[in-house]
Amino acid sequence: MQARKVLIVGGGIGGLSAAVALRRAGVEVDLVEINTSFKVYHVGIIVQGNFIRAMHELGIADQAVAAGFPQFGLQFKDLHDNVLVDIPGIPLAGNQYPSDLGMARPALHGVLTEAARTSGAKLRLGLTFETITQTADHIDVTFTDGTTGRYDLVVGADGVRSKVRTTFFPEAPTPHFTGQGVWRYNVPRPPEITRTFMCIGLDGGKCGYCPLTPTTGYVILVQSEPGNPRHPPEQLADIMRSRLDACTGLMAQFRDQIVDSSQVVYRPLEAVFVPAPWHRGRVLLIGDAAHATTPHLGQGAAQAVEDAVVLGRVFEQHQPIEQLLDAFMQRRYERCKFIYESSLQIGEWEQRPTPDADPAALTKKMLATVAQPI
Ligand SMILES: Cc1cc2nc3c(=O)[nH]c(=O)nc-3n(C[C@H](O)[C@H](O)[C@H](O)COP(=O)(O)OP(=O)(O)OC[C@H]3O[C@@H](n4cnc5c(N)ncnc54)[C@H](O)[C@@H]3O)c2cc1C
Repeated sequence: MQARKVLIVGGGIGGLSAAVALRRAGVEVDLVEINTSFKVYHVGIIVQGNFIRAMHELGIADQAVAAGFPQFGLQFKDLHDNVLVDIPGIPLAGNQYPSDLGMARPALHGVLTEAARTSGAKLRLGLTFETITQTADHIDVTFTDGTTGRYDLVVGADGVRSKVRTTFFPEAPTPHFTGQGVWRYNVPRPPEITRTFMCIGLDGGKCGYCPLTPTTGYVILVQSEPGNPRHPPEQLADIMRSRLDACTGLMAQFRDQIVDSSQVVYRPLEAVFVPAPWHRGRVLLIGDAAHATTPHLGQGAAQAVEDAVVLGRVFEQHQPIEQLLDAFMQRRYERCKFIYESSLQIGEWEQRPTPDADPAALTKKMLATVAQPI
């Protein structure tokens, strides 16, 4: 059978991973990224065993672990350094790997872009699609620089505000503000802090810390943002610090280091979940374009990379595209829906506590679920 050719729109975590996975399956890959460089903001990301297992399947787990801060499990604390729950991690990629990883986003992007480049995928920056025309046998694309290409499949990996989604799934829901925002700030890592912890007890949210490298980590604050305000950029540090007023001990030490507003990364949280199927003819959505959720379970990146791994696997089957995409959906839909709904549930509990609220139990259930093979 002639080698197949796929266009990936979007060079984020999902798109770059899909490029690697498809190249490993012998597929020819073009990837277009609208930004002129593979640049991401400087704060970090928390990932778990299923992310490392998926990276292992892409052949880059060692590089990812070397670029991050290996960790084992997660703690829930109160605002005063008292441990409430200790959740052991599950080293799903094998005992030679950690169960969890903190990674600076630029470090993760470095690993993924290097892997995508060396895989032989053709990566093009600073452009996107202009038109996409489907026929029964192929799909023709014109790009914003006037060039054209013919493909067997177009993969929309262009994130929560996906243009591929709005073009091909006009009836799909649009991203909605979930009521909370996330504040992040990098600070030095105290040597004794070797794994991520989250502190509960803040009004409308929580705070915590994640090690990213031997010398650094980041402070995380997730909180209700009534009315989805636009915070004045020059006040971000003051606002973030004041939100942590109730903390004592370690979190108070971190709080006092939040002094430079230009280094605060604030994001209102948005979510969207596209009903099945995530394909229309020869166009498929993956990652946040199909299922963007909140970071309450630290699973967004893992689900994007798992999408990529499964896409590569189904392409090894050499079946008609329609069958490949159906097989993809069967393996991805329920898992992504569970992560989407559970993440939003934790955010809901933080904003409107109920007697049955139990984020630690839901986190354990998530870990058991994602431990299942993909
Ligand atoms: C505040 C916050 C904290 C988070 N923390 C975590 C965490 O700790 N752990 C975790 O696992 N996940 C976390 N996530 C989620 C995680 O970042 C996403 O799930 C993940 O980035 C999804 O990858 P993606 O490739 O689908 O989308 P993205 O990473 O958003 O990549 C999309 C790419 O497409 C490009 N693009 C957009 N439009 C076009 C276009 N028209 N043409 C071409 N290119 C285009 C973009 O420039 C971008 O490079 C967090 C998310 C947020 C908002």
